[in-house]
Amino acid sequence: MSISLDRNTCTGCKLCLTSCPYGAIVMVEGKAQITEDCVLCGACVASCPVSAIVIEVIPKEHVDRSQYHGVWVVGEVQDGHLAGVSLELLGKGRELADTLEVPLSLVLLGESVEGLATIAGEYGADRVYLVQHPVLAHYRTAPFTDVICGVVNRYKPEIVLFGATAMGRDLASRIAARIQAGLTADCTGLDIDPAERLLLQTRPAFGGNVMATIVCRHARPQMSTVRPKVMTKAEPQPGRTAEIIPVSVDLEERRALTKILEVIREETGAHVNLAEADIIVSGGRGLGKPENFALLQELADALGGAVGASRATVDAGWIPAYHQVGQTGKTVHPKLYLACGISGAVQHLAGMSSSDCIVAINKDPHAPIFDLAHFGIVGDLFEVVPALIKTIKQASGQDDGE
Ligand SMILES: Cc1cc2nc3c(=O)[nH]c(=O)nc-3n(C[C@H](O)[C@H](O)[C@H](O)COP(=O)(O)OP(=O)(O)OC[C@H]3O[C@@H](n4cnc5c(N)ncnc54)[C@H](O)[C@@H]3O)c2cc1C
Repeated sequence: MSISLDRNTCTGCKLCLTSCPYGAIVMVEGKAQITEDCVLCGACVASCPVSAIVIEVIPKEHVDRSQYHGVWVVGEVQDGHLAGVSLELLGKGRELADTLEVPLSLVLLGESVEGLATIAGEYGADRVYLVQHPVLAHYRTAPFTDVICGVVNRYKPEIVLFGATAMGRDLASRIAARIQAGLTADCTGLDIDPAERLLLQTRPAFGGNVMATIVCRHARPQMSTVRPKVMTKAEPQPGRTAEIIPVSVDLEERRALTKILEVIREETGAHVNLAEADIIVSGGRGLGKPENFALLQELADALGGAVGASRATVDAGWIPAYHQVGQTGKTVHPKLYLACGISGAVQHLAGMSSSDCIVAINKDPHAPIFDLAHFGIVGDLFEVVPALIKTIKQASGQDDGE
């Protein structure tokens, strides 16, 4: 994309000056002039009453791919820490960058987040583009989109990876539309075609029945979102450092479009952090009714795990959606996944098939879940689960003798 300003049409009204969040327009001899600080956000185009400013979109086939260099991960900050998915993407990004023989960078937006650059270095980043501003203290679509489009246009990365989180999904799609790049959502595999320098983006398609590998031949950067727990974190290397590249921005609160009044933590309880759980006890339609999730909660409590669910039970209103595992739920990677009364539809398997050990309890010996399970118990879950609870409590000294 490129921007141009027609000095003959410009009336010198200065509306574009006040609209530019980056202070990238100055007055020269009574007319507006766009400086190198322009990030092509388009705010001035919309503000100009005489259409003197035009952003030209270069046809994708004419994009000069050689200008784009490097692999980027857009960092996500949660409670002052780098989110697990950002560390996982640094692990995958390191592999991609090594194959392409380019640097791996983290883009870090926030307020007082410079300490996280150290973590990024230890987890594989060569560089950290650090953008700090009070307006960026909490994620908001408009300022984050403006800033990331700005740094992308300025530094031209070849690949940009986002977590497929609430933030990443919102942000990546906005950025892709703004900079006219392609975006592949919810990738489960990323690789490089070294001959063409193409990012091979694999994800489930057609309701999870096939795995499609998608390439973005022309537009740059190539962009993907990846769900938490799909990629593996690299081993941190204490003492490894990343070069910090501070990026200054001139943001105004009034241009953020939204205002954060209060951050309210979701009361999800101690047992539903599925993405982080080492043990998950999941229930399906075989439970018969919502009250029977209490049985699975008891088993999860005995094991120190979390309760998951199939979409059938979520759709039926038996359990809140944040328990859902699968293609349209959470992707999990626990050490132990216990599937109770779950048939094993491909969409469910898409979210839990990489669990280290899968145990299925189902009364139908032909249930597809048994094809994937490491251990299968053919039986009625209402007999098997209480027996498991009893045995586990006895073995772990939780049995109160009743
Ligand atoms: C686009 C799309 C996205 C989807 N995304 C997801 C997703 O993210 N997650 C997801 O889970 N699904 C998803 N689905 C739905 C999926 O296709 C299945 O419909 C769903 O997973 C079935 O849930 P279930 O296994 O609980 O129910 P069922 O398929 O009805 O299976 C119930 C199982 O319980 C067993 N059973 C019954 N009684 C007992 C008992 N007493 N003891 C032991 N076993 C018993 C039965 O033998 C049966 O195998 C999606 C579907 C589509 C089209």
